[in-house]
Amino acid sequence: MSIWEQLKNLFTRNEPVSVIFKKEWAVLLEKNLPLYSLFPDNLKEKVHEKISQFVATTFFEGCGGLELTNEMILTVAGQACTLIVNHPGPPYPNLKTVLLYPSSFSSVKEGFDHRGNPTKDRITRLGESWNNGTVILAWDSVTSGARNLFDGRNVTLHEFAHQLDQENDRSDGVPFLHTPQAYHTWAEVLNEGFEKLIDKAERGKRSVMDHYGATNRAEFFAVATECFFEKPRQMVKKHPKVYTVLKEYYRLDPLEWRKQQR
Ligand SMILES: [Zn+2]
Repeated sequence: MSIWEQLKNLFTRNEPVSVIFKKEWAVLLEKNLPLYSLFPDNLKEKVHEKISQFVATTFFEGCGGLELTNEMILTVAGQACTLIVNHPGPPYPNLKTVLLYPSSFSSVKEGFDHRGNPTKDRITRLGESWNNGTVILAWDSVTSGARNLFDGRNVTLHEFAHQLDQENDRSDGVPFLHTPQAYHTWAEVLNEGFEKLIDKAERGKRSVMDHYGATNRAEFFAVATECFFEKPRQMVKKHPKVYTVLKEYYRLDPLEWRKQQR
């Protein structure tokens, strides 16, 4: 039985998560996820609950010779579930599979050249999220991204933000929102932030958000999500409206966690 199946069996037992979730796993999350260690206790309990649902319903597989461990599964699940910890319903209903490589992997990118002929390019990736319910991650990037809580780069949060965006079958930077009115504000605020970032990227000016977010609206949402969790102070200063919109969407306030820390 694979390590994932063992965990899955444990989490599908008819016992409360507070009983099943081992102390050593919480210690492991503290070690690997400085973001998790900032959570208030009630949020940690909620995230354990989501992790158990996530692991019970998502197939995990090690690729490229990687032997999965509990640590790997829980570290990925812990970050994925941070994004949806305050969302109602099961985590990532469309997600089926998480594939984990030891380090960066290559994938084929299909596109078109300037004459409209189909092209296939092999490119190196740290992570990918597909519309069909698959997330692929490089384990070394998962850990390095999580352990540095201040650089605004976190491949796991990035790819799972894409997965949320893809729940409505489109990668357009607009996930399912909580209310019909929210779509209007979302479009206005995120478009403005996106235009600003394009302008900065074109002029070669530094920005709180990585310039990669200027690629398209889907990347903007994913990069803004990384920034929201890892650089909340700077984001509130430079992009207060984007921060507020994301705070309402995620129903979380990472800036508050940082304040408690001091
Ligand atoms: Zn992306």
